[in-house]
Amino acid sequence: MEWEKSKRLYEEACKWIPGGVNSPVRSARAVGMNPIFVKEARGCRLVDEDGNTYIDYVGSWGPLIVGHSHPDIVEAVRRAAEKGTSYGIPTQLEISMAQKVVEMVPSIDMVRMVSSGTEATMSAIRLARGYTGRKKIIKFNGCYHGHGDCLLVQSGSGLATLGIPGSPGIPEEIVMHTLSLPYNDLGQVEEVMERMGKEVAAIIVEPVAANMGVVLPRPGFLQGLRKLCDAFGTVLIFDEVISGFRLAAGGAQEVFGVLPDLTCLGKIIGGGLPVGAYGGKREIMMKMAPVGDIYQAGTLSGNPLAMSAGLATLNILSSAGIYEVLEEKANYLVHGLAEGAKAAGVSVRMNRIGSLGCGFFTAEEVCDFESALKADTQAYAVFFQEMLKGGIYMAPSQFEAFFVSLAHEKSDLDRTVEVAAQAFERVREH
Ligand code: PMP
Repeated sequence: MEWEKSKRLYEEACKWIPGGVNSPVRSARAVGMNPIFVKEARGCRLVDEDGNTYIDYVGSWGPLIVGHSHPDIVEAVRRAAEKGTSYGIPTQLEISMAQKVVEMVPSIDMVRMVSSGTEATMSAIRLARGYTGRKKIIKFNGCYHGHGDCLLVQSGSGLATLGIPGSPGIPEEIVMHTLSLPYNDLGQVEEVMERMGKEVAAIIVEPVAANMGVVLPRPGFLQGLRKLCDAFGTVLIFDEVISGFRLAAGGAQEVFGVLPDLTCLGKIIGGGLPVGAYGGKREIMMKMAPVGDIYQAGTLSGNPLAMSAGLATLNILSSAGIYEVLEEKANYLVHGLAEGAKAAGVSVRMNRIGSLGCGFFTAEEVCDFESALKADTQAYAVFFQEMLKGGIYMAPSQFEAFFVSLAHEKSDLDRTVEVAAQAFERVREH
């Protein structure tokens, strides 16, 4: 496989864009490569500028659960664009989107649209602080909630990949109110809450962590957080930017039967256009301006193109049996990958729920950031490179998820398993 054109484009991009990328996770540094430059994509297939084709398991980092350039979404965006791309004046589409979200997500009574997941979590934190009149927040090591100042502490995603614990440019006075605790360790949360629960505005958590690779909540972890928040008047925020509409129509909260006070959404809700949202209990949401005095705004919030793409996606996901189909595909894939690793004698821990998964190159159970960081990133780099050469595009980091979409056919999954079997052989030799 040749990457001549991608290489040239990358060199050119580096002259004008820091690191040649508009988001650090797109860099393939951690896996010892340059990024490929995409020309186009359809279904589950990406085509790069050199004309190479790949079966894609990144899906724009989660949004593309129905696949690339799905005809319903392309048509919805085209129709919307013909009527104008943005007004900054309310539209009926925004009501349709709000109603759809309230219908699908169990804990949401009211919702506000924003333009990214980062905005959703920043706004939810501000709302929780304004609502409770408290400053402190609790988050968990290895969870990523976007790049807002107060949440960029012991974060997953690109920070885990690049080994950055926090970020210069964020004053100590801001992060001094953020406590980051080990994921899945309810005992530590209980201990902290008993000491200072009345000062804690919010506990924010990825109900299924998907930014340190994929880590499932232990039985009772989410329920325990709910109980602690109830006991201390703390707002429980589920960051469902990845898990929302991915694990079920109602996200992780539906799957685990634990209802947060506020939910952050992103990715799938925009159908591949820039969207985020936060919503929850009416009583809390009514504190937002213009009814309340907690401020948050956005020029392109509720943008008609984005609402159209998002609604078209949510409509597809509302059809009966969709999540069963996704479960079946992902289960088939993970089973095949696990077999391949076993046959090659490589230790891989497969963590998966629904169409969200990850293979950690380690023999130990991965249940938190500490155990995730024990994974062999060199082995992952070899695996990534071999998969890429075989026409399979996985995330260029051990600490990211893979996403199965409705567009992955059985033949695509079979091909993936076949290439992976050889990739695991190379991993064993490395
Ligand atoms: N929360 C979670 C759980 C995420 O995975 C992400 C992005 N990967 C974000 C928030 C931030 O979303 P965005 O990149 O749209 O700002």
